[in-house]
Amino acid sequence: MNTEPEGKVAIVTGASKGIGRAISLELARNGYHIVVNYRSDEKGAIETQAMIRQEGGDGDIMQFDVSNHKETQNAFDDILKRFKTIDALINNAGIAADGLFVMMPRKDWHSVIDVCLSGFYNMTKPVLEKMVVQKRGAIVSIASVAGLMGNRGQANYSAAKAGLIGASRAVASEVARLGIRVNVVAPGLIETEMIKDAPIANIKALIPMARIGKPDEIAKVVRFLCSEDASYITGQVISVNGGMF
Ligand code: NAP
Repeated sequence: MNTEPEGKVAIVTGASKGIGRAISLELARNGYHIVVNYRSDEKGAIETQAMIRQEGGDGDIMQFDVSNHKETQNAFDDILKRFKTIDALINNAGIAADGLFVMMPRKDWHSVIDVCLSGFYNMTKPVLEKMVVQKRGAIVSIASVAGLMGNRGQANYSAAKAGLIGASRAVASEVARLGIRVNVVAPGLIETEMIKDAPIANIKALIPMARIGKPDEIAKVVRFLCSEDASYITGQVISVNGGMF
Protein backbone atom coordinates (compact mmCIF):
# COMPACT_ATOMS: atom_id res chain seq x y z
CA MET A 1 0.00 0.00 0.00
CA ASN A 2 1.05 3.63 -0.58
CA THR A 3 1.77 6.29 2.01
CA GLU A 4 -1.08 8.07 3.81
CA PRO A 5 -3.21 9.79 1.17
CA GLU A 6 -4.70 13.23 1.61
CA GLY A 7 -8.42 13.87 1.51
CA LYS A 8 -11.41 11.65 1.94
CA VAL A 9 -11.36 7.85 1.97
CA ALA A 10 -14.10 5.54 0.65
CA ILE A 11 -14.26 1.75 0.87
CA VAL A 12 -16.14 0.23 -2.07
CA THR A 13 -16.85 -3.51 -1.82
CA GLY A 14 -17.14 -5.50 -5.05
CA ALA A 15 -15.26 -2.87 -7.05
CA SER A 16 -13.62 -5.17 -9.64
CA LYS A 17 -16.38 -4.58 -12.18
CA GLY A 18 -19.93 -3.38 -12.81
CA ILE A 19 -21.65 -0.97 -10.45
CA GLY A 20 -18.81 -1.09 -7.87
CA ARG A 21 -16.29 0.02 -10.48
CA ALA A 22 -18.56 2.88 -11.61
CA ILE A 23 -19.02 4.00 -7.98
CA SER A 24 -15.26 3.87 -7.38
CA LEU A 25 -14.60 6.07 -10.43
CA GLU A 26 -17.35 8.54 -9.56
CA LEU A 27 -16.16 8.92 -5.95
CA ALA A 28 -12.52 9.18 -7.07
CA ARG A 29 -13.52 12.01 -9.46
CA ASN A 30 -14.94 13.72 -6.41
CA GLY A 31 -11.74 13.57 -4.39
CA TYR A 32 -12.02 10.26 -2.55
CA HIS A 33 -9.11 7.86 -2.19
CA ILE A 34 -10.71 4.47 -2.91
CA VAL A 35 -10.20 1.13 -1.20
CA VAL A 36 -11.01 -1.14 -4.16
CA ASN A 37 -12.26 -4.44 -2.73
CA TYR A 38 -12.74 -7.60 -4.78
CA ARG A 39 -13.14 -11.30 -4.05
CA SER A 40 -11.87 -13.28 -7.06
CA ASP A 41 -11.33 -10.97 -10.06
CA GLU A 42 -7.87 -9.54 -9.38
CA LYS A 43 -7.46 -8.43 -13.01
CA GLY A 44 -10.72 -6.49 -12.79
CA ALA A 45 -9.63 -4.80 -9.55
CA ILE A 46 -6.30 -3.79 -11.13
CA GLU A 47 -8.25 -2.35 -14.09
CA THR A 48 -10.46 -0.35 -11.73
CA GLN A 49 -7.38 1.04 -9.97
CA ALA A 50 -5.79 1.93 -13.34
CA MET A 51 -8.97 3.71 -14.46
CA ILE A 52 -9.04 5.68 -11.19
CA ARG A 53 -5.40 6.71 -11.72
CA GLN A 54 -6.08 7.67 -15.35
CA GLU A 55 -8.58 10.19 -14.04
CA GLY A 56 -6.08 11.64 -11.59
CA GLY A 57 -7.28 9.82 -8.48
CA ASP A 58 -5.81 6.93 -6.53
CA GLY A 59 -6.87 3.79 -4.77
CA ASP A 60 -5.57 0.68 -2.99
CA ILE A 61 -6.66 -2.82 -3.90
CA MET A 62 -7.77 -5.15 -1.10
CA GLN A 63 -8.84 -8.74 -1.63
CA PHE A 64 -11.30 -10.15 0.89
CA ASP A 65 -14.63 -11.91 1.01
CA VAL A 66 -17.28 -9.71 2.62
CA SER A 67 -19.15 -12.81 3.81
CA ASN A 68 -16.12 -14.01 5.81
CA HIS A 69 -16.04 -12.34 9.22
CA LYS A 70 -12.39 -13.14 9.93
CA GLU A 71 -11.24 -11.85 6.53
CA THR A 72 -13.16 -8.58 6.91
CA GLN A 73 -11.74 -8.10 10.41
CA ASN A 74 -8.18 -8.56 9.14
CA ALA A 75 -8.85 -6.23 6.21
CA PHE A 76 -10.28 -3.62 8.51
CA ASP A 77 -7.24 -3.80 10.82
CA ASP A 78 -5.08 -3.03 7.74
CA ILE A 79 -7.36 -0.19 6.70
CA LEU A 80 -7.17 1.36 10.18
CA LYS A 81 -3.37 1.25 10.13
CA ARG A 82 -3.35 3.01 6.79
CA PHE A 83 -6.05 5.69 7.04
CA LYS A 84 -6.82 8.28 9.72
CA THR A 85 -10.47 8.56 8.70
CA ILE A 86 -13.04 6.59 6.76
CA ASP A 87 -15.46 8.97 5.13
CA ALA A 88 -17.66 6.57 3.18
CA LEU A 89 -18.46 2.88 3.01
CA ILE A 90 -20.27 1.53 -0.02
CA ASN A 91 -21.68 -1.96 0.58
CA ASN A 92 -21.93 -2.94 -3.07
CA ALA A 93 -20.65 -6.55 -3.23
CA GLY A 94 -23.45 -8.92 -4.15
CA ILE A 95 -24.26 -12.20 -5.84
CA ALA A 96 -27.41 -13.88 -7.11
CA ALA A 97 -28.24 -17.60 -7.29
CA ASP A 98 -31.66 -17.61 -8.89
CA GLY A 99 -34.22 -20.39 -8.97
CA LEU A 100 -37.76 -21.09 -7.90
CA PHE A 101 -37.98 -21.30 -4.12
CA VAL A 102 -39.49 -24.77 -4.10
CA MET A 103 -36.37 -26.08 -5.83
CA MET A 104 -33.83 -23.85 -4.13
CA PRO A 105 -30.90 -25.71 -2.56
CA ARG A 106 -29.96 -24.66 0.95
CA LYS A 107 -26.51 -23.58 -0.23
CA ASP A 108 -28.07 -21.06 -2.68
CA TRP A 109 -30.19 -19.62 0.11
CA HIS A 110 -27.22 -19.24 2.44
CA SER A 111 -24.61 -18.04 -0.07
CA VAL A 112 -26.76 -15.10 -1.16
CA ILE A 113 -27.76 -14.15 2.39
CA ASP A 114 -24.12 -14.48 3.51
CA VAL A 115 -22.75 -12.09 0.87
CA CYS A 116 -25.62 -9.61 0.48
CA LEU A 117 -26.77 -9.39 4.11
CA SER A 118 -24.10 -10.76 6.47
CA GLY A 119 -21.60 -8.81 4.36
CA PHE A 120 -23.42 -5.68 5.55
CA TYR A 121 -22.84 -6.69 9.18
CA ASN A 122 -19.20 -7.67 8.63
CA MET A 123 -18.32 -4.37 6.92
CA THR A 124 -20.64 -1.86 8.53
CA LYS A 125 -20.05 -2.69 12.20
CA PRO A 126 -16.27 -2.01 12.26
CA VAL A 127 -16.64 1.02 9.98
CA LEU A 128 -19.33 2.46 12.25
CA GLU A 129 -17.11 1.99 15.31
CA LYS A 130 -14.60 4.25 13.57
CA MET A 131 -17.23 6.73 12.31
CA VAL A 132 -18.77 7.04 15.78
CA VAL A 133 -15.40 8.30 17.06
CA GLN A 134 -15.01 10.63 14.05
CA LYS A 135 -18.62 11.80 14.47
CA ARG A 136 -19.12 11.81 10.72
CA GLY A 137 -19.40 9.49 7.74
CA ALA A 138 -21.74 8.15 5.10
CA ILE A 139 -22.75 4.56 4.45
CA VAL A 140 -24.57 3.60 1.27
CA SER A 141 -25.66 0.04 0.56
CA ILE A 142 -26.75 -1.26 -2.81
CA ALA A 143 -30.01 -3.20 -2.45
CA SER A 144 -32.29 -3.96 -5.40
CA VAL A 145 -35.78 -3.47 -6.71
CA ALA A 146 -36.08 -7.20 -5.82
CA GLY A 147 -35.88 -6.26 -2.13
CA LEU A 148 -38.91 -3.99 -2.59
CA MET A 149 -41.00 -6.09 -4.99
CA GLY A 150 -40.03 -9.69 -4.20
CA ASN A 151 -38.96 -11.05 -7.59
CA ARG A 152 -40.11 -14.44 -8.87
CA GLY A 153 -37.14 -16.84 -8.85
CA GLN A 154 -35.21 -14.65 -6.41
CA ALA A 155 -36.53 -15.48 -2.93
CA ASN A 156 -33.00 -15.63 -1.51
CA TYR A 157 -31.88 -12.41 -3.21
CA SER A 158 -35.15 -10.58 -2.43
CA ALA A 159 -34.89 -11.62 1.23
CA ALA A 160 -31.26 -10.52 1.49
CA LYS A 161 -31.93 -7.15 -0.16
CA ALA A 162 -35.07 -6.51 1.92
CA GLY A 163 -32.99 -7.36 4.99
CA LEU A 164 -30.35 -4.89 3.89
CA ILE A 165 -33.01 -2.19 3.69
CA GLY A 166 -34.38 -2.99 7.17
CA ALA A 167 -30.93 -3.13 8.74
CA SER A 168 -29.90 0.16 7.09
CA ARG A 169 -33.00 1.96 8.35
CA ALA A 170 -32.46 0.65 11.87
CA VAL A 171 -28.77 1.56 11.94
CA ALA A 172 -29.52 4.97 10.40
CA SER A 173 -31.79 5.82 13.32
CA GLU A 174 -29.18 4.64 15.84
CA VAL A 175 -26.35 6.83 14.54
CA ALA A 176 -28.18 9.84 13.07
CA ARG A 177 -27.33 12.06 16.06
CA LEU A 178 -23.65 11.26 15.65
CA GLY A 179 -23.40 12.86 12.21
CA ILE A 180 -23.41 9.53 10.37
CA ARG A 181 -25.86 9.00 7.52
CA VAL A 182 -26.94 5.54 6.35
CA ASN A 183 -28.86 5.16 3.09
CA VAL A 184 -29.73 2.59 0.44
CA VAL A 185 -29.85 2.72 -3.34
CA ALA A 186 -32.20 0.18 -4.92
CA PRO A 187 -31.30 -0.30 -8.60
CA GLY A 188 -33.60 -1.84 -11.18
CA LEU A 189 -32.00 -3.71 -14.08
CA ILE A 190 -28.46 -2.40 -14.69
CA GLU A 191 -26.12 -3.40 -17.51
CA THR A 192 -23.44 -5.53 -15.79
CA GLU A 193 -22.20 -9.13 -15.76
CA MET A 194 -24.78 -9.96 -13.11
CA ILE A 195 -27.66 -9.77 -15.59
CA LYS A 196 -25.96 -11.59 -18.48
CA ASP A 197 -28.40 -14.52 -18.18
CA ALA A 198 -31.50 -12.47 -17.30
CA PRO A 199 -34.49 -12.48 -19.71
CA ILE A 200 -33.78 -8.87 -20.75
CA ALA A 201 -36.58 -8.57 -23.35
CA ASN A 202 -39.22 -9.74 -20.85
CA ILE A 203 -37.95 -7.43 -18.12
CA LYS A 204 -37.63 -4.43 -20.47
CA ALA A 205 -41.37 -4.70 -21.06
CA LEU A 206 -41.86 -3.97 -17.33
CA ILE A 207 -39.71 -0.82 -17.36
CA PRO A 208 -41.59 2.41 -18.21
CA MET A 209 -38.37 3.91 -19.62
CA ALA A 210 -38.04 0.76 -21.78
CA ARG A 211 -34.28 0.50 -21.30
CA ILE A 212 -31.68 -1.05 -19.03
CA GLY A 213 -29.86 1.33 -16.67
CA LYS A 214 -26.15 2.08 -16.75
CA PRO A 215 -23.76 1.59 -13.79
CA ASP A 216 -22.99 5.33 -13.93
CA GLU A 217 -26.63 6.12 -13.23
CA ILE A 218 -26.30 4.31 -9.89
CA ALA A 219 -22.86 5.77 -9.15
CA LYS A 220 -24.06 9.38 -9.42
CA VAL A 221 -26.78 8.79 -6.84
CA VAL A 222 -24.29 7.12 -4.50
CA ARG A 223 -21.94 10.09 -4.89
CA PHE A 224 -24.80 12.46 -4.05
CA LEU A 225 -25.74 10.45 -0.94
CA CYS A 226 -22.12 10.54 0.26
CA SER A 227 -21.88 14.31 -0.28
CA GLU A 228 -22.81 17.30 1.88
CA ASP A 229 -25.64 17.95 -0.63
CA ALA A 230 -27.39 15.04 1.08
CA SER A 231 -26.67 16.32 4.62
CA TYR A 232 -30.32 15.93 5.80
CA ILE A 233 -30.96 12.55 4.16
CA THR A 234 -30.68 9.37 6.23
CA GLY A 235 -32.54 6.08 6.53
CA GLN A 236 -33.81 6.39 2.96
CA VAL A 237 -34.10 4.02 0.03
CA ILE A 238 -33.59 5.73 -3.32
CA SER A 239 -34.95 3.70 -6.24
CA VAL A 240 -33.05 4.04 -9.53
CA ASN A 241 -35.05 1.81 -11.84
CA GLY A 242 -36.47 3.68 -14.85
CA GLY A 243 -39.88 3.81 -13.19
CA MET A 244 -40.13 0.01 -12.79
CA PHE A 245 -41.42 0.16 -9.21
P1 NAP B 1 -21.31 -7.82 -10.85
O1 NAP B 1 -20.93 -7.14 -12.12
O2 NAP B 1 -21.56 -9.29 -10.84
O3 NAP B 1 -20.20 -7.45 -9.74
C1 NAP B 1 -20.29 -7.97 -8.46
C2 NAP B 1 -19.10 -7.51 -7.65
O4 NAP B 1 -19.25 -8.01 -6.32
C3 NAP B 1 -17.78 -8.04 -8.17
O5 NAP B 1 -16.79 -7.04 -8.03
C4 NAP B 1 -17.48 -9.21 -7.23
O6 NAP B 1 -16.08 -9.43 -7.03
C5 NAP B 1 -18.06 -8.67 -5.94
N1 NAP B 1 -18.34 -9.71 -4.97
C6 NAP B 1 -19.20 -10.74 -5.07
N2 NAP B 1 -19.16 -11.47 -3.96
C7 NAP B 1 -18.24 -10.90 -3.14
C8 NAP B 1 -17.75 -11.20 -1.85
N3 NAP B 1 -18.20 -12.24 -1.16
N4 NAP B 1 -16.81 -10.39 -1.31
C9 NAP B 1 -16.35 -9.33 -1.99
N5 NAP B 1 -16.77 -9.00 -3.22
C10 NAP B 1 -17.70 -9.78 -3.79
O7 NAP B 1 -22.63 -7.19 -10.23
P2 NAP B 1 -23.25 -5.71 -10.29
O8 NAP B 1 -24.41 -5.77 -11.20
O9 NAP B 1 -22.20 -4.69 -10.49
O10 NAP B 1 -23.84 -5.65 -8.81
C11 NAP B 1 -23.36 -4.77 -7.81
C12 NAP B 1 -24.43 -4.67 -6.74
O11 NAP B 1 -25.63 -4.14 -7.32
C13 NAP B 1 -24.82 -6.01 -6.12
O12 NAP B 1 -25.06 -5.86 -4.75
C14 NAP B 1 -26.11 -6.35 -6.84
O13 NAP B 1 -26.93 -7.20 -6.07
C15 NAP B 1 -26.72 -4.99 -7.01
N6 NAP B 1 -27.73 -4.89 -8.06
C16 NAP B 1 -27.41 -5.13 -9.36
C17 NAP B 1 -28.41 -5.02 -10.34
C18 NAP B 1 -28.16 -5.26 -11.79
O14 NAP B 1 -29.13 -5.29 -12.56
N7 NAP B 1 -26.93 -5.38 -12.25
C19 NAP B 1 -29.71 -4.69 -9.95
C20 NAP B 1 -29.99 -4.46 -8.62
C21 NAP B 1 -28.99 -4.55 -7.68
P3 NAP B 1 -15.22 -10.52 -7.86
O15 NAP B 1 -15.74 -10.49 -9.26
O16 NAP B 1 -13.84 -10.05 -7.70
O17 NAP B 1 -15.45 -11.85 -7.20
